Amino acid sequence: MLGAMQDWDLKVTHLIDHAAREHGTREIVTHWADGTETRTDWAGIRRDALKMTQALRAAGVGKGDRIATLAMNHSRHLVTWYGAVGVGGVLHTINPRLFEDQLEYIANHAEDRVLLYDAAFQPIIDKMKPQWTTIEHYICFDSGEHSPSFEDWIGAHDADTQWAEVDERDPCMLCYTSGTTGNPKGVLYEHRSTMLHAVLGIQPACFDFDARSVMLPVVPMFHAASWGLPWAGAATGVKFVYSAVNDPTVLCDLMKREGVTHSAGVPTVWLTIFQHCDTTGEPLPKLQQAIIGGSAAPRFMIERLMKNGARVAHAWGMTETSPIGTVGAPTHDWDQLSFDEQVDIVTRQGQPIFGVELRTVDLDDFTRELPRDGKTSGALQIRGPWVIKRYFKAEEDATTPDGWFDTGDVGVIWPNGTLQLTDRTKDVIKSGGEWISSVELENAAVGHPAVAEAAAIGMPHPKWDERPVLFVVKKDGQDVTADEVKAYLGDHVAKWWLPDAVEFVDDIPHTATGKISKKDLRARFADYTLE
Ligand code: ADP
Repeated sequence: MLGAMQDWDLKVTHLIDHAAREHGTREIVTHWADGTETRTDWAGIRRDALKMTQALRAAGVGKGDRIATLAMNHSRHLVTWYGAVGVGGVLHTINPRLFEDQLEYIANHAEDRVLLYDAAFQPIIDKMKPQWTTIEHYICFDSGEHSPSFEDWIGAHDADTQWAEVDERDPCMLCYTSGTTGNPKGVLYEHRSTMLHAVLGIQPACFDFDARSVMLPVVPMFHAASWGLPWAGAATGVKFVYSAVNDPTVLCDLMKREGVTHSAGVPTVWLTIFQHCDTTGEPLPKLQQAIIGGSAAPRFMIERLMKNGARVAHAWGMTETSPIGTVGAPTHDWDQLSFDEQVDIVTRQGQPIFGVELRTVDLDDFTRELPRDGKTSGALQIRGPWVIKRYFKAEEDATTPDGWFDTGDVGVIWPNGTLQLTDRTKDVIKSGGEWISSVELENAAVGHPAVAEAAAIGMPHPKWDERPVLFVVKKDGQDVTADEVKAYLGDHVAKWWLPDAVEFVDDIPHTATGKISKKDLRARFADYTLE
């Protein structure tokens, strides 16, 4: 026997229909790269997305076709998200910071047919065009010398059309991981997974959105599905404030002028905002909710934002998990805790939101599940409806035989379900059969006032298998010796974790998404030997 309720597929276009119908006049503001600002609203986004579906159909682009973007955050990019899925296509957001061989690989692998791009990325287009073999249509988001421009392209249509008929299990978006090893891998989200992620993302324990929320997402629309914000925001009619430039002066100004209540970004973003406020003497903008993810949020950052009145939602996730896995939300006993105890909780990566499950397993034996005791660290695995099953075009599933996705992260789970990440599987340092967390060494080292950045890697050691070596970039105009760094670390980590050597370097290599690239660091020091 079937239930007797109405059919309502979990299709992403329901989100924009709802936003336009119930929150149609709620603004979407854009600060463009040339300093001008424009305003539209959810009804305008839907109207333009419908026009875009007409333009795509006129170009012979439709169901299942990949429609790519190479663009910063702005309202036309938002239109494209809904226009691409509205025609039944697959939105493919490309990260313009990727290296040339990665850009070549992913557009060809995705078989993109259309590319919509910012004029600022014209040099990338000019360089890559001969190598991109499947792209037939190039549309520039900006008007001017580049033609056709987005406004002209959709302006020829009247929005008098319908969204394409799709099944909720049809794909709607494709994001590639930046690939710290091998080629980037594509994650193919479906309407259903995206809808579930969006509607569970608005809850108080996650983004905490309602109709009053004003969100300035600093997380780019080209990285990890922009944490799902363009979808989730439509569900409650959030006012979006976009900046196509990541200048802290602009961001702080917009936050104050536009009444921003929520913002989301990687730790570096918050750091540049702090630096801007410290240099200019401007007060830190007052936020209700600061979402930090992508890499671990340092304690001083959490403290400063919390003291300024914000709730800090420290989130963990990855492209493979749509990306939200866990978010730090107030625990049941939050109001009885001291400020320091609250900060202790937020420095961890939070709890899984409803819909996903986590477990840790033995690093050497994935069938042995580990206790949630806040001590035992292991390989972090996840499952749920918005977690990857198989990479795009892969021959095999990416899950374990019992259906979990191994994240490549290492962590501990506390008895209350809070996740604490300790490392990446390939970065953890194995010394004498015991594990040393490279991340904890690095976090401790950057607490030293003269240390700008630090990276720990395991170097081969004849007796211990591996021993940690810490690479340190000094802050401008500051000096510190290796012994002083070690003495400082001695107050923060176990003695046997102390690095065998501290090496000062001018820079530490980073990936296209701004994370420390241990792969490149290892390659640079391939001949390094411990005395
Ligand atoms: P990439 O940056 O490689 O393109 P992702 O954005 O998907 O890919 O990166 C996901 C990884 O980022 C996670 O597996 C984890 O290692 C790291 N990460 C994400 N959030 C956090 C966090 N809050 N704390 C520590 N590490 C995090």
